[in-house]
Amino acid sequence: MSDCAADGYARISFDKIEENKETLSSETPLHIACYRAGREVNAILHVHSPLMIAAAEKTDRLVSTSYEFDCILKKAVPIIDYIQPGSTLLAKAVAEKVASGATAVMMRRHGSICVGKDLEEAYLRVLALERACLTRLHTS
Ligand SMILES: [Zn+2]
Repeated sequence: MSDCAADGYARISFDKIEENKETLSSETPLHIACYRAGREVNAILHVHSPLMIAAAEKTDRLVSTSYEFDCILKKAVPIIDYIQPGSTLLAKAVAEKVASGATAVMMRRHGSICVGKDLEEAYLRVLALERACLTRLHTS
């Protein structure tokens, strides 16, 4: 069973996934694949932002829209075509982008993930990505 520590975050060992499958998020495979793919991935935030979903329909990758984008997201954000949420195919496709250095990945008709060395960095990337998507939608 997963533990919920005093800080409110659920924690589970990678080797206990199968026995806890019923209580875990359907996107657990996606998160695990990303943790394993990135050298400095210690936090992953997954959001279903309508702005991100809409922006993903406008382009194949989200390029820089601002100095903030360059400083926080670092590089263009890849956008992958729709793949069934919760599937190992989706986990593999997203993890490949993270392994190639992506700090965020947008998933058509689904949402986005942002990774970071800690939760603060991942959260700042979510905010920067949301603002970049808003800018993109207003400039297209
Ligand atoms: Zn999702």
